[in-house]
Parts: sequence; C-alpha cells; structure tokens
Amino acid sequence: MSDKYDVVVIGSGPAGYVAAIRAAQLGLKTACIEKWKNKSGKGVNGGTCLNVGCIPSKALLDSSYKYHEAKHDLGVHGISADGVGMDVPGMLDRKNKIISQLTGGIAGLFKANGVTSLYGTGKLLAGKKVEFASNEGEVSILEAENVILASGSLPIAIPVAPVDGELILDSTGALEIDEVPERLGVIGAGVIGLELGSVWNRLGSEVVLLEAMEDFLAIMDQAVAKESKKIFTKQGLDIRLGARVTGTEIKGKQVEVTYQSVAGDEHKETFDKLIVCVGRRAFTDGLLADDSGVQLDERGTVFVNEQCATNAPGVYAIGDLVRGPMLAHKGSEEGVMVAEIIAGHKAQMNYDIVPNVIYTHPEVASVGLTEEQVKAAGDSYNVGTFPFAASGRAMAANDTDGFVKVIAHADTDRILGCHIVGPSAADLVQQVAIAMEFGSSAEDLGMTVFGHPTLSEAVHEAALAVNGGAIHIANRKRK
Ligand code: FAD
Ligand code: AMP
Repeated sequence: MSDKYDVVVIGSGPAGYVAAIRAAQLGLKTACIEKWKNKSGKGVNGGTCLNVGCIPSKALLDSSYKYHEAKHDLGVHGISADGVGMDVPGMLDRKNKIISQLTGGIAGLFKANGVTSLYGTGKLLAGKKVEFASNEGEVSILEAENVILASGSLPIAIPVAPVDGELILDSTGALEIDEVPERLGVIGAGVIGLELGSVWNRLGSEVVLLEAMEDFLAIMDQAVAKESKKIFTKQGLDIRLGARVTGTEIKGKQVEVTYQSVAGDEHKETFDKLIVCVGRRAFTDGLLADDSGVQLDERGTVFVNEQCATNAPGVYAIGDLVRGPMLAHKGSEEGVMVAEIIAGHKAQMNYDIVPNVIYTHPEVASVGLTEEQVKAAGDSYNVGTFPFAASGRAMAANDTDGFVKVIAHADTDRILGCHIVGPSAADLVQQVAIAMEFGSSAEDLGMTVFGHPTLSEAVHEAALAVNGGAIHIANRKRK
C-alpha cells in the first residue's frame, strides 16, 4: 500500500465518512482516519452521530415513547394494557445493537467504495502531510493532495458542574444511565437537554431543566417555542428559565445544584443524577501541527470560507469543526460539496435551507427564516398557520398538539420559512425544505395535491392560509 492519497480525511463522523465515500466514488484515492474505539477497544467509524449522538438518543427516545404510550395513552383507543413494565438495561442493549449495526455498516460502505479505513489518530502537518498514529502504536506519514479535517465536536464542560461519570454526566454518560433516577436535573434546555430530559421524564423521573437564558429556545421561531414550552410543561418537564447554575456539591448519592435567578436570588435543588447539556465545542485538540497553516476563528472553530476551504491550500474542514449549526446533515452536505470540489466539479451548499429538529414528542422542526428574523430584516411577509387539532389524521392518531406555520414574502409569495411543533414535524418540515430548494411560493405548495388523510395536509393548509385560502380552518382577515 502506497502512503500517497488524493484525499485523506481525518474523522469519520457524518461529515468525514460521507466526504470519504463521495471522494472515492469520484475516483479519488481516499483514506479516512478514525480514532474512536468502542467499549471493547475496537476502532469504529461513525463519530458522535452514530456512537453517542443522533442515533443512540433517538433509539432511547423511541423506546421511552413506546413505554409511555403503552402505559398512559392506549386507553383512549379502547386498549387496556395492564402490567406494562420497563427494562432499562434492555433498552440500552437495543440501542447498543443499533450502534454496532450502523458503525459496522460504515466499514462495509468504505470497503464497497474503496476507501482505505485507518484506525488511529491523525494530525495535520505542514504541506498537506498527515501524521498517522495507529491504534497499535505505529506512526507513519501520509502524503495527500488534499486533506479534509472532520474531527467534530465535544460536549462543553463547565467548571461549576464537573462531570464525574457517576452523578454528574455529559450527554454521552446520559445515554448509559441504567436505572430511572427519581429526580433528574438537566443544565441547559437546548436541543440535547430537551431530548434527554424527555427520555427520562417518560420513564418516570421527575425532570427539572435549568436554563440560563430567559427565552425558551431563543433561536427558534418564538410562536413555536412558546407552544412547545406549553406542551413540554404539560408533559411534566419542569423548565426553569433565567436559571444560571453557579455551583454543584456532591452529597452522598445525590448532587446539590445551586442556581441563580435573573433577579439574583439563589436557589438549591437536589438530584439523583445531573446531566450537563450546555452545548458543544469544536474538537481541535492535537489535530494541527503548529505550522499546519490552518487558522482557527475567535470561537475556536476552524476558519473556512463558503466552500469549506481553510487558510492552508488543499486543506478543507467540515462538520461540527467549522461555523454553522452543529448538525449531522449539515456536515454530510459539506462533505459531499468538498469531495466534488476536490474532484474538479463546481459545487456549493445552500446554507439557508438546513432543517433543524428537536426529537421530543411532539417534534419541533424548522427550516429557513423565523418570523423574528424576517421582521428584523424589514421584509413584508404573510404567515399561514394550521393547528393539528383540525387535522383528521392527527385526531385519528390522538396526536393533536401543535401547529404548522409557513412564512412567505408578501410581494413574491416565496416561502421564507416553515416552523412546526407537532407529530412527525421532522418529516413534514422536510417537504417544505424541498419546496424552498425549488424556490416555491406558498401558492405553489397550496396548488400541490396532498394525499388524504395525512399529517402533511397540515402543511398544505398552512401554505393555503398564507394567502387566506385555507379550507379546513377559518382564515385570518387580511389587511
Ligand atoms: P463527529 O460526529 O463528532 O465525528 C468526528 C470524528 O472525528 C469522531 O469520531 C472523532 O473520534 C474523530 N476524530 C477527532 N479527532 C481525530 C483525530 N485527530 N484523528 C482521528 N480521528 C479523530 N445532529 C443532528 O443532525 N440530528 C440529531 O438528532 C442529533 N442528535 C444529537 C444527539 C446528541 C446526544 C448529540 C451529542 C449530538 C446530536 N447531534 C444531532 C449532533 C451530531 O451528532 C453532530 O452534529 C455530528 O455528529 C457532527 O458530525 P462530524 O462528522 O462533524 O463530527
Ligand atoms: P444547546 O446550545 O442547544 O445545546 O443549548 C445549551 C443551553 O445551555 C443554552 O441554552 C445555554 O443558555 C444553556 N446554559 C449554558 N450554561 C448554563 C448554565 N451555567 N446554567 C444554565 N444553563 C446554561
């Protein structure tokens, strides 16, 4: 095996492995270096997403949802399910099997596409060289025409709540809790905090989320954020806003948390477990030699241009390592774009249309601009909304919380954004993302034929409502 490659990718999360596969498909000789080891010490691909992120969290969300539904929500369907029990280790086991299956799947895809998979640690040196320290301890130098950095991110640690792996956990530890804590504290009511809080709330924990900001889901459309908070509170999540955690103290088998309200009052709460979910930071530790030529920006992420090129010629960076939302699909699309560019093709990514989802139940999903952003830009716009309470399909499923909101430009009717809290919001918002990608107007979406009865009809009706033409709900009077 020669150690010269067209492309060397460092990191095999959803950004890196997709970049590697696409590069190989385009005829480029490609290697992908990955340092992640599973619990048995074996090198595995897939990064945060497959090992401790998107997939394991969704596995536990789905299991806990089924338990909760069986226990509490079947009576209305005329089904009695007595003696519903739970087996948390069984849930973890199922989650772990899914992880093994998917990470093994990446190894299979690498093989099928001719990507050389290298297990160990990569470090970018000057002149597009990569130092590779294998998991077996051998060090070699790989030469590359192009290097793609995709080393991802890590949970942010805060000194006031040091993770000990026992009582205070980060999101990774939270995926391994093997019995239901009576009282669970979560620092940060963001995407990950809400998802993990929901898992344990459904399984019976009393869950308190402490969030420093006064606004709930501040970057989301605020109408959707407000409705979501109402729904989550009704489900039993105790969401305390303007609550900044200032200290923790281990007291026997519990942890006491001190937090400060906006007014400055000090409060204390005691929990059986505490999960710290205050965001993630780009993972650059040990990635770059001093003379690599790659620069970081002021937030510690690798500085790149729109095409994900770094300051060092022939070196690209993608995924959580660079600016933009920390989302698996955002990194994957960057991976495809960069592989295409390296292969000499024209490629760009539409950063304006990246869907964003919180996988609670109901889900919260958005794409494009929020009403607050459109307003701030000074554009005139129309809004159409449709509640799931008026959807026959949602009623049939007994899943009627939430609504769809479509925002369109007042002059062109072009769709600017869509925000949903409701059943299958993730899949519904994707329909609007596709429409937006094709420059659709609200009228175009309104003229599209939607199957009946579907949850998608709520998207159709919201699009119709933008121009006062919704059929199954009274339309707002237009000025
Ligand atoms: P990562 O997935 O972090 O992969 C980077 C890889 O690089 C890692 O495997 C790491 O071991 C490796 N690496 C780092 N340095 C080196 C080195 N020097 N040498 C070799 N290898 C190296 N996103 C969504 O879109 N949807 C979700 O539902 C979702 N849910 C999430 C739930 C949780 C609990 C968490 C924590 C995250 C979630 N995310 C979700 C975020 C998502 O996981 C990340 O955005 C995504 O994994 C980033 O992909 P990446 O390839 O950039 O980095
Ligand atoms: P996200 O960025 O979606 O993962 O959300 C992380 C959340 O954690 C943000 O909303 C932060 O405001 C919140 N946060 C950060 N530090 C603290 C803290 N010390 N106490 C409470 N919340 C915090």
